[in-house]
Amino acid sequence: MSTPPPAELPHSIKRSRLTGAVTVHFACPACKAGINSPVDDAGNTDKCPDCGTDFRVPGMEARRAEDVRRKAKQAEQRAAEERAQQQRKEEAAWAAAARTRIAATRADRARRPRPYTAGCCVTGYIMAIAGAGLLVFGIFMSTTVSGVNNIGLLNDRIVLVIVGSVLVLSGIILRAVSALGDEVHRWGRKLMGKPRENSPTKVHEETSPTE
Ligand SMILES: [Zn+2]
Repeated sequence: MSTPPPAELPHSIKRSRLTGAVTVHFACPACKAGINSPVDDAGNTDKCPDCGTDFRVPGMEARRAEDVRRKAKQAEQRAAEERAQQQRKEEAAWAAAARTRIAATRADRARRPRPYTAGCCVTGYIMAIAGAGLLVFGIFMSTTVSGVNNIGLLNDRIVLVIVGSVLVLSGIILRAVSALGDEVHRWGRKLMGKPRENSPTKVHEETSPTE
């Protein structure tokens, strides 16, 4: 048999909508003055501000309920913080893995041998542009001197147009050769599997188990 809890003063419990603070409302047992106490004071001895009478602040049950509610809220906040921390960790790990992948891809690309036709692309463009310049100049150049047709200038014009055309065509062909070279290179890589040349680590890994 447990002893019954000491009788409390009649009271009501209120929770502030604004701050969430819980207060106990009761009347002084001597002078009946209305008193508001924080729920955390429930069970403590206090003095009436009006008549100075000692009393025990009521609301023990509400205080216990408030303690339980606060602890649950703290546990919830801790769990949320742990979840957020875990997520940050996972994101950091993911970013690190992505950086490693990117670095590995770059290194692999740098190791990869370039096709022999790699230089054809730029050369082709330069030739095509230079040829187009000569062609345009040849087409629009004047072949008359003081209004009279000049056979020498006409010959120059013909040469310029022919050389320009040949350069433009050659540039286009070179550019096509470069594209074809890239394509052939890709086929070769696909047929050969991973590149072995200029990749000593790979070769070492492949040969070491047989030693
Ligand atoms: Zn009082």
